[in-house]
Amino acid sequence: MNDGLQDLYREVILDHNRRPRNFRVIEGGRRHEGFNPLCGDRVTVYLKVEDGVVRDAAFEGQGCAIAKASASLMTEALKGLTVDEARKRFAEFQAMVTSPLESPVPDLGKLSVLAGVREFPTRVKCASLAWHTAKAALDGDDAPVSTE
Ligand code: ZN
Repeated sequence: MNDGLQDLYREVILDHNRRPRNFRVIEGGRRHEGFNPLCGDRVTVYLKVEDGVVRDAAFEGQGCAIAKASASLMTEALKGLTVDEARKRFAEFQAMVTSPLESPVPDLGKLSVLAGVREFPTRVKCASLAWHTAKAALDGDDAPVSTE
């Protein structure tokens, strides 16, 4: 990856950390909590699912820049997807952040900026926390998510 692209990626992450999108509560929807003890990231994900479609997605929480930016980008990415598409996107995202450093970055739109965490194995859990939490919310799983 060239430096210009890396700067762009860093900029997107910093922007979403500073001004997280959909940082709010959704009343009456699905709600799930997740925790990454390794870094201390905490996230609550809210999803409004109607007729098998994610109509709205939001989150609240505290964490490092990667965790917040990832949650913010995720809420934007999930809105409007069917539940099946959302599960597929989760799988694609997981595959991307856990793939070897030298493998090509898949085109997942803005989510591709988070491929940068592959260089920092401890950050992979920060980036995937919100996704695991959203997956549990989609699955209707009651247990809180922990990345450990
Ligand atoms: Zn973190």
